[in-house]
Amino acid sequence: MRIHKGDTVIVLQGKDKGKRAEVVRAIPERERVILEGVNVAKRHAKPTRATQQGGIIDKFMPVHVSTVALVCKSCNQPTRAGIRVEGDGEKVRVCKKCGADL
Ligand SMILES: [Zn+2]
Repeated sequence: MRIHKGDTVIVLQGKDKGKRAEVVRAIPERERVILEGVNVAKRHAKPTRATQQGGIIDKFMPVHVSTVALVCKSCNQPTRAGIRVEGDGEKVRVCKKCGADL
């Protein structure tokens, strides 16, 4: 998966289309990511001893990686990540638009 935790992405589909958000968690085995403030489900929580207080909790639901595009930190454009292999075999993600390392 080419999108990692901490990346900034733009949402391409769904009710949050056009929104920019940070990846708070990547789930490579399911090809999904959890984004800050995107695909929010309201959960009605009962008070528990741990939280003291119930109420409505915002829970961010995972979205499929194909519905988001990586935003390049350098050119600030939605882009696709390319891979450049360094001399030592290390793989570096690069922006396909401006060529900057991601
Ligand atoms: Zn770029």
